[in-house]
Amino acid sequence: MTHDWKAIDEAVRVEPGKKSKLRARECVGADLLPDREVAEGALKDCAKAIDVLQDRLWAERSRALLVVLQGIDTSGKDGTVRGVFNQCGPLGVSVTAFGKPTEEELAHDYLWRVHAAVPKKGMIGVFNRSHYEDVLVAKVRGLAPKDAIEQRYDQINAFEKHLSENGVTVLKFMLHISKEEQRQRLQERLDKPEKNWKFNAGDLEDRKLWDEYQAAYETLLDRCSTEHAPWRVIPADKKWRRNAIIAAIVHGTLEEMNPRYPVVEWKPTDYVVE
Ligand code: ADP
Repeated sequence: MTHDWKAIDEAVRVEPGKKSKLRARECVGADLLPDREVAEGALKDCAKAIDVLQDRLWAERSRALLVVLQGIDTSGKDGTVRGVFNQCGPLGVSVTAFGKPTEEELAHDYLWRVHAAVPKKGMIGVFNRSHYEDVLVAKVRGLAPKDAIEQRYDQINAFEKHLSENGVTVLKFMLHISKEEQRQRLQERLDKPEKNWKFNAGDLEDRKLWDEYQAAYETLLDRCSTEHAPWRVIPADKKWRRNAIIAAIVHGTLEEMNPRYPVVEWKPTDYVVE
């Protein structure tokens, strides 16, 4: 079974033009999806259905879906990709992780590398971090002048409008975890030898700037949740619930896009395969 995704979506969506009130938003979200078994069953169904719909999207070859994943370190961006798109073939889904810009990327405007990674028609593209880093880490760490960053919110809205007017549906998810949950996840990376490789001392530096990052998130949610590309703030302290919610919204969105297999102009019965 799948959930009433519209009700879930309404609960997590940041209404365009309204304050996001990030601090008041759920990191746990037990009311949204109380039952783990039901959620896990629905996640499996959604993941399979997403694959079928992607096949239709590819056959139609006229539109694309871009899924943007943002969240503080350990919020589960990689885990979401694994959990939600694991039924999709590698031909249909492209995943792009945006790290520190290279010298070449820094020699261009900040949207250059992002635009180049937007999925082509027929594809689902997933961004693990995105152009929003340019109003997050760039702001918190002062990597660009204040007034340049200030202009970026409108530039990002215009960029996403351009994409949506050119056949790219943009879904944006902020994976919202609590500070305590991050502490536990970082500690686990120290405690479990098989997770040691994930530990990065730099994450502790960013953790010290927790409030600054939350404030930067709140600002981008307030300013960049638009009719053409609204933000969703996903309760992400529980991994199974996070995945189930995102899968339900991706699935529901693809169903609404309703990609269709093209109708061929010949009759299959005209041919015989010897
Ligand atoms: P992750 O932490 O997502 O698993 P990395 O360890 O490669 O992956 O971290 C990516 C790093 O790149 C993050 O610290 C992030 O803040 C940084 N980064 C991403 N985009 C930008 C950007 N536009 N400007 C500066 N730093 C960025």
